[in-house]
Parts: sequence; structure tokens; C-alpha cells
Amino acid sequence: MSEAIRTYDELEHLVAKTYKNPDLDTLRRAFALAEKAHAGEVRLTGDPVISHPLAVSYRLAQMGLHLNVVVAGLLHDVVEDSPITIEDLKTQFGEDIAGLVEAVTKLKHGIKYRGTERYAENMRKMFLAMASDVRVVFMKFADRLHNLETLYGQPKHKQERIARESLEIYAPIAGRLGMSEFRGELEDGSFAYLHPKEFERMKNIMDIKVREKGAYVSRIIDSVEKLLSATSIEDYQVHGRIKRLYSLYKKLNKYQGDLSKIYDLIAVRIIVSDVEDCYMALGLLHQHWRPVPGRIKDYIAQPKPNGYQSLHTTVFTENGEIIEFQIRTLEMHELAEYGVASHWRYKEGSNKPMRNTRWMEELAQIQKELESKKDFMEQLEVMKIDVFKDRIFVFTPQGDVIDLPEGATPVDFAYAIHTEVGNKCTAARVNEVMRNLDTTLLSGDIVEVITDKNRRGPNPDWLKFAKTRHARNKIKDSTRHTVKGWFAEVLKGREKAKK
Ligand code: MN
Repeated sequence: MSEAIRTYDELEHLVAKTYKNPDLDTLRRAFALAEKAHAGEVRLTGDPVISHPLAVSYRLAQMGLHLNVVVAGLLHDVVEDSPITIEDLKTQFGEDIAGLVEAVTKLKHGIKYRGTERYAENMRKMFLAMASDVRVVFMKFADRLHNLETLYGQPKHKQERIARESLEIYAPIAGRLGMSEFRGELEDGSFAYLHPKEFERMKNIMDIKVREKGAYVSRIIDSVEKLLSATSIEDYQVHGRIKRLYSLYKKLNKYQGDLSKIYDLIAVRIIVSDVEDCYMALGLLHQHWRPVPGRIKDYIAQPKPNGYQSLHTTVFTENGEIIEFQIRTLEMHELAEYGVASHWRYKEGSNKPMRNTRWMEELAQIQKELESKKDFMEQLEVMKIDVFKDRIFVFTPQGDVIDLPEGATPVDFAYAIHTEVGNKCTAARVNEVMRNLDTTLLSGDIVEVITDKNRRGPNPDWLKFAKTRHARNKIKDSTRHTVKGWFAEVLKGREKAKK
């Protein structure tokens, strides 16, 4: 089960290969410092502690993130584990690297899992870290992933806690950031510990399917390559992709365990160089094989909320077999695997042509703006454009941040704070102005909920505008009781009348 331990030489080799003129001296110094800081310490797996920052750093380099992030990955636990301070790191490695290490260290103290009720708070902490520097979240993911990979060394109760936290907090955030590679690994890594029997069952299903369908899929790939080679499409890659185990588990539950309803156990991915070629490839497939009705999805024209783009189609091939195709450009592919992180990848001097330069310029601009804005509220304004498209951030007068879906109202806000605050709320002051409870809140609003302790409970009419499931459930729960109470009173009244 153990992943091979990475050595420093492997890391340096990868960096030298991936980056143009990398500052290997800084990388070496960081490793030397980390090695000294963790000297003599052993992980519960029996491996030396230094193997952990090495693995984290290696992963960040594999993602091609900027070298400062890779260096910070080596140093991410030294402040925690040794007398070395952030100030020391600042002197030796500069503000940026020290800042990354500081942010990751802070996040570690912030994210303490204490039951599901802390979920929202943990999410917010991650979002705050993201808003200040999204690179910190990439580091946190790489850190968590290696901890999951080496979870077998931990005692049982800790395995369970870490796996649950990864599945419930980290994986959804990775998903929201469009980082499906991380999300998939976090999910499968946790799944193995949380539902070991189901994990084994899914693994068996996939093993059998891969054995059954392997030859068929490679025949399809050959045919597609032949079809494509006869067109004007020049650059293309065609390969098979196997569904991830947790994703299969979720889908099977959705279809009451009916495996025959799942068409994308094994899919074929076609990667081309531009959008026109995507549509051309789709047309080509449909000319050749009959599409299954209702299964053509144009996520290029209508991207998913996390930015995912691709064309999906399912077709009938030879002998009534059914197979799903996913067609996308290389950019879309990178975005699908790395999500937001793909914009932060190190591109300078790479051999790959940079097609989407406008987007990169925009992001460079955003990053520059972020640097110039010291104020969190201002930074939030800037970040909103990108990561937090369908979420808003609203503040309490004390400065606590509540994240809510777009269109949320003071009622959602009140229930997010506490059920009692929700049940007793009568009005809200938004940016110091009195507003109705159905007012649509905007990111950056400062909201103060006015409560009335004599209020008996929520108004069922709030369901017309409350947006979060949490608020809606609480309103329903509470009004159910009120109605029951009201009935009881009416009945009592009748009893009295009878007498
Ligand atoms: Mn760590």
C-alpha cells in the first residue's frame, strides 16, 4: 500500500526537467533546512518525517505550480516542528515563500474538525485562505493527499476522522475549484477507509469491467484515431478513462445499484487543439455511430458552474455496445484536471503553446491587483470574479464571514449564525440600513440581524425566499411544531366550547 518514498534527487530532477532555469540553489537550501528541522523524527508509518514534505513538494512540482510554491512545500511543516520561525524563513527565502508557509501553518490551526456542525466554519476558513492566496489551498490539498496516502500508519479513530474530513471538506472544495484530479484522489483515498467493503466492491466491479471491455475499448480507440486521421484535425489524442471508485459508488446509489444504467464506467476521451475541432470530432462520431438520445451534452457552450467544459456524447457501436465520449481541447483538459490551479501553473518557457493568453493576462492582472490591495474586503472584490462565482461572502458586525449561495437573504444569514437567531429574527440592518428579511444580500454586505425574543417562531412565508437548505429545513421544522401547537389550541378551544 505504501507509496514509494521520494528522494530529494527525484524532486530536483523533476524540477530541472519541468522548469526553465529553476533556482535549484534555493530548492537545495530549503531541503537542507527541512532535513535538519525534521532530523531524527519518524512518522507512524515508520518513514522519516522528511519523506512527507518531499512528497508534498514533488506533487506541487508535478502540477507545475510556481517554484516558490514547490519550495514552500518543502518547508511547510518546519515552523510547526522546529524552533525555526517565519522570520527566519523570511530572511533566508524571502517574503513570498515565508508567507506561503505562514498561511499553511495558520490554516492547520484553523481547521480542527469537531463534528459536522463545524463544517461550515471549516469551509469558511478554507475560503478565507483562498481569498488571500489560492496557492495556499493547493499546498493544503497536496499535504492532505499525502497524509491520506500514508493513513495506514495512523490509529483507527484518527484514520476515520481524517478520511471523513477529507471527504466532507477538502474534496468538495477541490470540486468547487474544478480540480477534479485532486477531488477524485481525495475521495477515493477517504472512501477506502470510510467504507472499506463498498470500496472493495467498486474495485471488483471496475476490475471485471476493465477485463471484459478492455479489448473492445482499444478497438474503439483505434477506429476513432483512424476516423480523425482522415480529417483536417491535426493534433489529437485519444485515450480511455476509467471511472473513479467513489464516483461510481455515488452513481450506483443514485440508480438503486443498477449497473446497466451507468454508461461511463469506461469512457473514451478525445483531446484536440481548438473548439472547432471539438465540434468536428463530435459530428464525425455521430456520422459513424448512432447517438443515444438525450445523452449529448454541450458543456462547451454551457460550462458547468465550476467551469468544466467538454462535449459529452454516448453512442451505440458495434453489436449494440454503448460507449461515452468526452471531447475537449487541451486547455479544457488541463482545466478539468487542475481547475483553478491550471491558471497558476508555471508556463514560462514551456514548450506548450499558450493559446489562451488573454485569460492569463487577466489573471496576472487579478494577482497584481490582489497584491496591491491590503484590505481583505477589497481582495474579496477582486477574487469574486473568479473562484466564488456562485457564492457570496457576508459579514457580521464583528467581522466574521458567512458564506452563502447567491441570492441568499437575511433569513439564510440568520440561520447560518444560529437556529435561535433564525427563529427569532424580525428584521435586518444591512450596511447600517434597515431592510426586509427578503432582501437579496450581496458579497461584502455587513448584516446585523434584529431579533425579538418574544417571537414564537419563523414565518412559513419565509420559505418563499430562503435559499439555503439549512434555513429551509429549520423553518419547516419549526413551523411544523407551531402548526401542531396551533391545532392543539384549537382542539382545546373546541373541548371548552363543548363543555
Ligand atoms: Mn504536512
